Amino acid sequence: MKKIITLKRYIVIGLLAVMIWGCSKVPLTGRRQFKLLPESTLIQASSLSYQQVLDTANIIRTGEQAAMVKRVGLRISKAVEAYLTEQGLEKRVEGFDWQFNLINDNNVNAWCMSGGKVAFYTGITPICQDETGVAVVMGHEIAHAIARHGNERVSQSLALQGMATGLDLAMLIKEKLEVARQVVNTAVGIGGQLGMLAFSRKHESESDELGLTFMAMAGYNPSEAPKFWDRMSQIGGERPPVMLSTHPDSGKRQEDLQKLLPKAMVIYNQNKR
Ligand SMILES: [Zn+2]
Repeated sequence: MKKIITLKRYIVIGLLAVMIWGCSKVPLTGRRQFKLLPESTLIQASSLSYQQVLDTANIIRTGEQAAMVKRVGLRISKAVEAYLTEQGLEKRVEGFDWQFNLINDNNVNAWCMSGGKVAFYTGITPICQDETGVAVVMGHEIAHAIARHGNERVSQSLALQGMATGLDLAMLIKEKLEVARQVVNTAVGIGGQLGMLAFSRKHESESDELGLTFMAMAGYNPSEAPKFWDRMSQIGGERPPVMLSTHPDSGKRQEDLQKLLPKAMVIYNQNKR
């Protein structure tokens, strides 16, 4: 009997959580999202996890490449924030603390944790080729954070395990760095490398769409995006980059990007410098 009462209580709390945090829409795409945790929990966990990554990473602090990553990151994040404020959606970036670090690592990868913590690996810079190429990746990664894909990803896996675990998790995250690290790594898709969950294709396509708009808002030519993703798909080989493992297949992606490009070009033409 006690078990049933406990279960009922969890269900009620769970439903409340869904009502409070679950009913939000992704800016621009308008997709309704399912979330069990407040975004602040994810941001808090990300800060810990990001610091842990930085502590062991070989961060490149000087030189043009590191400066470029920071410059592009700032330019796009500022443009996105200005847009959100204009739309009355500034709450989307509440608690964000943008950071853009270049890490010396041959993996072809980049990611952004909840709250705007970005890492670029040196392995991806040759494929970016130039600043606009960096902006393609940056726009896509920033989009994951703005769209709160990490929260959705964690919420989905919590829902599979039962909501009760999810409610305890918010408390656990406050106390246990290791739990936080795993949750966030899973959420940003670094988990893909570690054999854990990565973003779904739906999330990847949405980040492509938002990323295209975001780079255009910052004055970067979005017509570079299909070219960049084409270069990415060429380097498949035996060990395709982690970034491609859950991504839409190359043909579909090109088709989608071409469809979205005219609208993004209008935004670019209003913002180009
Ligand atoms: Zn992605």
